[in-house]
Amino acid sequence: MTRDTSNVDGARLWSTLMETAAFGATAKGGLRRLALSQEDAAVRRWFVAACEAAGLTVVIDALGDIFARRAGLDPDLSPIAIGSHLDTQPTGGRFDGILGVLAGLEVVRTLNDAGLVTRHPIEIVDWTNEEGARFAPAMLASGVFGGAFDLGYAQSRTDRDGVAFGEALEAIGFRGDALVGGRTLAAHFELHIEQGPVLEAAGRDIGIVTGVQGIRWFDAVVEGQACHAGTTPMARRRDPLQGAARLAAAVDRIGRSEPDVSLSTIGQFEAFPGSRNTMPEVVRLSIDLRHPRDDGLDHMERSLRAEAADIAETLGLAITLTPVWASPPVVFAPACVGAVRRAVADLGCAAQDIVSGAGHDSVYLSRVTPTAMIFIPCLGGISHNEAESITPDQARLGAEVLLRAVLAFDRAS
Ligand SMILES: [Zn+2]
Repeated sequence: MTRDTSNVDGARLWSTLMETAAFGATAKGGLRRLALSQEDAAVRRWFVAACEAAGLTVVIDALGDIFARRAGLDPDLSPIAIGSHLDTQPTGGRFDGILGVLAGLEVVRTLNDAGLVTRHPIEIVDWTNEEGARFAPAMLASGVFGGAFDLGYAQSRTDRDGVAFGEALEAIGFRGDALVGGRTLAAHFELHIEQGPVLEAAGRDIGIVTGVQGIRWFDAVVEGQACHAGTTPMARRRDPLQGAARLAAAVDRIGRSEPDVSLSTIGQFEAFPGSRNTMPEVVRLSIDLRHPRDDGLDHMERSLRAEAADIAETLGLAITLTPVWASPPVVFAPACVGAVRRAVADLGCAAQDIVSGAGHDSVYLSRVTPTAMIFIPCLGGISHNEAESITPDQARLGAEVLLRAVLAFDRAS
């Protein structure tokens, strides 16, 4: 493929991706690069060196977030950030998060080659502990940056061995001096693999991410009366498992109410006391509802509560639904999404709008700065798996859209 200097270099991006895939490589071709591990430290040192070699100024904050700045023409403007994460799941792939950071490096290298200086500074960001695999919860450092968590909470999270985030950060030498969240960003762009099958199935090369769906979690408890399986006539039973089964069917219906939009899942389902010849007394189940809009989530929750009340009354049971966690839907900033649209139009990509089903650093960034994301498809929609796969050309096109989106935003803002 020919390349003029205003286009990204797909071969260079790919070799960068493959080079860093050595840090934490697994036998099955994936990565094990848990946050703040020695492997994470190694890729961080590589990243800092590569950024400095590209002429960037590196600043590290108190949670180990790395900001690598390319100066702009106007010193009064805040930087346009290009961020994602370099940590992975325990048996993760080579692209989840990593693509978004290294594509940022490719954008900067391309601008350097072209001798092009933007009005805004550009900052590539590696957000610490996005995966939450070692230190729960996920998106921890970007969450502090976005004001969702406080600094002490993040620093005191512990891993399975009791090692605190703060200690682990200190141990790998990446606790910086900069205040977390103590910098204003003009925008935050994140290129990421879709981690789902929608784009591939639709034959699209690019997803214009308009937001991230909201989530509501409930614990459901269905209570009846335990009794003997052989001596209790069917008509006299108050069987919580039958109630829970009807509730499960209702949850599935609610998830299917808006095809390709609403989702519902029961991931846990337990009967107590759990004896073969005793009808259970209590059944506990988890319910996960997802929708890109608050009114959609409200509607799903109302349906769930109405169905539960109905089932309880019909079968003589008590059903309680307790909300345990919620994450509101995110709608990305029109200025940033618009910049992605212009990039896609310039390039004539096969693209479609998409709402992210997974959480990303951009969720929390969007609370404090205009934000948008770009998705590329991944093979079979498989992610959080060593088999995670994209082609060099998919990576190149994603980086090309990213570059043009950043330039479009830079011109317009
Ligand atoms: Zn990710």
